[in-house]
Amino acid sequence: MSNQNNSIHEFEFKLICEYFSQVERQGPGSPEVTKLAASFIDNLNPKSKIADIGCGTGGQTMVLAQSLPGDITAIDLFPEFIELFNKNAIRNKLDHRVKGITGSMDNLPFEEEELDLIWSEGAIYNIGFEKGLNDWRKYLKKGGYIAVSEASWFTPERPDEIDRFWVNAYSQIDTIPNKVSQMQGAGYVPVATFIIPENCWTEHFFIPQIEAQKSFLAKYSGNKVAENLIHYLKIEAELYDKYKDYYGYVFYIGKRI
Ligand code: SAH
Repeated sequence: MSNQNNSIHEFEFKLICEYFSQVERQGPGSPEVTKLAASFIDNLNPKSKIADIGCGTGGQTMVLAQSLPGDITAIDLFPEFIELFNKNAIRNKLDHRVKGITGSMDNLPFEEEELDLIWSEGAIYNIGFEKGLNDWRKYLKKGGYIAVSEASWFTPERPDEIDRFWVNAYSQIDTIPNKVSQMQGAGYVPVATFIIPENCWTEHFFIPQIEAQKSFLAKYSGNKVAENLIHYLKIEAELYDKYKDYYGYVFYIGKRI
């Protein structure tokens, strides 16, 4: 039974990977937002060590490498994403500074106080915001930075429908002041916090998926897993359009004390 479940999950993961391999970003974001967040990081030099955790195929990593000095080790759970990532680094002539490796964010291959900067766009939810901030802190040098984007509520209250959707999808979604307080509690100075603009969801995330969904459904017509995935993603996009005043992604930048 459990073997069967594993293989069903493996099949789902493979399909999800294949679907998201077709688009440049696997989460909401944009080059402008990556650059803006990077502008808060000081004290880096060509010898600095940076980690990009949950890097996907590397859309944001290439922008980061063009914005900041130092070497970047990027990590993702899915080997398929890392393969595309490393091709992407070569295409951008960044492979001497940017390297993708397969691994998990709950077991990172770094030494204590090795890193100058930890980056993670739209991925820390996989370990949980608070746990990620606490667990990853030891890898940072004193005075090193962490910059993560995370789903957050914009208002203290919101309509039931969207509250239920998110509590089910990611129960640790919380308000911005609560997230900032968690960052402070984990041993960082909260340096900057900003809401990423709507075009990071529309232009850079949902719109590129429209074509991807058509070709994916054509390839996997009649496949329930594929159809359910696309159905879920469509609901996600519709809910965003309906409730975008109440939630979004927020960049949180902190400096290790
Ligand atoms: N940073 C990218 C991808 C965000 S999507 C972007 O902004 O476009 C979240 C990523 O986290 C996916 O690529 C997923 O494969 C990765 N991921 C999920 N669980 C992970 C884990 N335990 N360790 C490392 N990466 C993980």
